[in-house]
Amino acid sequence: MSTPPTVETVVVDGLALAQEIRKELSEAVGAHVGAGRRAPKLAVVLVGDDPASASYIKGKRRACERVGMDSSETKLPVTATREEVLATIEALNGDAGVDGILVQVPLPKGLDAREIARALDPAKDVDGVHPVNAGLLLQGVHTLVACTPLGILEILRRFEVPLEGAEAVVIGRSDIVGKPVAVLLQQANATVTQCHSRTRDLREHCRRADVIVAAVGVPKLIGRDWVKPGAAVIDVGVTVVDGVITGDVDTEGVAGVARIVTPHRRGVGPMTITMLLRNTLAAYEQRVGG
Ligand code: NAP
Repeated sequence: MSTPPTVETVVVDGLALAQEIRKELSEAVGAHVGAGRRAPKLAVVLVGDDPASASYIKGKRRACERVGMDSSETKLPVTATREEVLATIEALNGDAGVDGILVQVPLPKGLDAREIARALDPAKDVDGVHPVNAGLLLQGVHTLVACTPLGILEILRRFEVPLEGAEAVVIGRSDIVGKPVAVLLQQANATVTQCHSRTRDLREHCRRADVIVAAVGVPKLIGRDWVKPGAAVIDVGVTVVDGVITGDVDTEGVAGVARIVTPHRRGVGPMTITMLLRNTLAAYEQRVGG
């Protein structure tokens, strides 16, 4: 017999939250355009023909349109060489009409994501992957920070999850999610434990956490008995299982235990795109003034 529910769980509507923020961004863009300035512009580079990436960049283009930003897409074939990708980035770096550049990952085999990140103009690196931006984040000097971690912190802030002194467990240590979210949580004065594939007793770490961020890619890794009553559980994972998108968290399973949980659809994803828009606006304002 399962334990009766004890905690009222809020399933975060990441899309509704994203739309609220996009409205604010749209007003800010409108004010710039109303003042006679050009609209901010995001340039997306897609290498190869990964269907999920194609769908992600379509979502990014639509999101730009809806807040009044311009966008462009540069599509390179899966056979594109390192030199061709670097030349594309160099051209976008030098294009005065482009404020933000995002290179969609995963990249085809043979291309080094870190080398490509280093080629970006840090002032246009709206994904926060350039070592200068990653280093500034580490020092607590926020410029352009990776979008998914920013979205996660925004969710925690808007749902008033206390971070001061809280035990936060981050599972995953990628450059794009795990590492930067751990830094942001630590800067918000949480006590952070960073877990990964070699962590012993992962469940025990999670069971004492006030905040769990799962950025792993293992479907339903986090079950009901992994969560302390009242914890905030953020599910970043996206894995397709038999054609169905699945997260790292058993959302239904943690209901009645977690205080808030982000679902794998309409959870962190819409907030990630929204932070990309926010970063693009910030990069634009740095360039044109604002
Ligand atoms: P990643 O590069 O795929 O790495 C996964 C991380 O999880 C690694 O640090 C790995 O440890 C750790 N890991 C793997 N298996 C584990 C296990 N059984 N127990 C504990 N840790 C384990 O990470 P990512 O790029 O951050 O992506 C993570 C997930 O988030 C993916 O499903 C991705 O699709 C999704 N994602 C979603 C969004 C969104 O907006 N919703 C954005 C970005 C990513 P090691 O370091 O030891 O290998």
